[in-house]
Amino acid sequence: MNITPAIKAMEDQLVEWRRALHRRPELAFEEHETAAFIAARLRWFGLEVHEGLAGTGVIGVLRNGEGPCVGLRADIDALPIAELTGATYASEIPGKMHACGHDGHTTMLLGAAQAMAADPPGPGTVVFIFQPAEENEGGARVMIEDGLLEHFPLDSIYALHNWPGLEAGRIAMRAGPVMAAFDTFELKVIGKGSHGAMPHEGIDPITLAAQLQLAWQTIVSRAVDPTDATVISVTQIHAGHTLNVIPEEVILRGTVRTLRPETRDFVQTEMTHRAEMIAAAYRATAQLTYQRRYPATINAPEAAETARRAAEAILGRDAVQTDYAPSMASEDFAFLLEKVPGAYGWIGNGSAEGGRNLHSPHYDFNDAILPLGVQFFVEVARRALTGAND
Ligand SMILES: [Zn+2]
Ligand SMILES: [Zn+2]
Repeated sequence: MNITPAIKAMEDQLVEWRRALHRRPELAFEEHETAAFIAARLRWFGLEVHEGLAGTGVIGVLRNGEGPCVGLRADIDALPIAELTGATYASEIPGKMHACGHDGHTTMLLGAAQAMAADPPGPGTVVFIFQPAEENEGGARVMIEDGLLEHFPLDSIYALHNWPGLEAGRIAMRAGPVMAAFDTFELKVIGKGSHGAMPHEGIDPITLAAQLQLAWQTIVSRAVDPTDATVISVTQIHAGHTLNVIPEEVILRGTVRTLRPETRDFVQTEMTHRAEMIAAAYRATAQLTYQRRYPATINAPEAAETARRAAEAILGRDAVQTDYAPSMASEDFAFLLEKVPGAYGWIGNGSAEGGRNLHSPHYDFNDAILPLGVQFFVEVARRALTGAND
């Protein structure tokens, strides 16, 4: 593994930062202590610092004359999970935990900022983006709304997420969709309540809701190209409270995941159509509220190529995976990739056994991969700035 001596020498400090961040997890848009931690270090490196974008976002800027402008992004928020790792540096804040490794991402980008401040990777500008609220709240979108891309007109952008189940010392990077679009829905099926023993006097919304759930599943199995991964999950059904009463209405809620914008449009239209038509057939009504939360995370071919070559320069060809299937989970870096060509890859976090998966109370970021993450950011910035293609 090609890690420079300067980055190797940072390792103890990186572990210390990661564990300090791990002890003090903060939820979406409340990352005040985390933001102060980041800003203090960026200043210490001698970088230009901007605070307050999307509330708790922090930007560090390295200016080194004329040249391209490359963005590197880390997410900084934690989750409302009570930690069960028993680590000596476990969360000190009850009910909150860095269970997605954003403490590690923040540390890798801080390390990269320090390394590049000391030794600029090429002519141009590097923008270090510490983004709040990746989990559910779409902090990337809010940063864009707050003018991120007007203040810092990026030519390309890169990010890494740790990936349990991918061996430590490996990176996965490919062009095209890597994470799915994330939508949510709520369907209200309104029938006519009646006595449980006299269903003919009402319109049973529960039987109808059951049919609808199945009709939606056949959108995935019968109407979408089988090679175009799509998920419709009804995750809640709420109705009724008495054994012998057929209720007036049923609420179904859930989530939809798609990889292609056209499929996303199709699924939304088809879910609406089937709900309305099937309900109408039974003289009931269906009201579907469909919310588009995150778009799919789609890597630009050229940026993915730059990132792949950067990873291969550090790890060798065999340790860089390019033929993996996308995840049907989602990532708000997608909002940035809608505006700026870029690439998002996975850095192996090691085994996911023993519940050490993302969003698990047993999860922990693997400190051993911190120098690799730093080196990747430095190498990808160098290539983005100099156009080096070796
Ligand atoms: Zn997460
Ligand atoms: Zn995450």
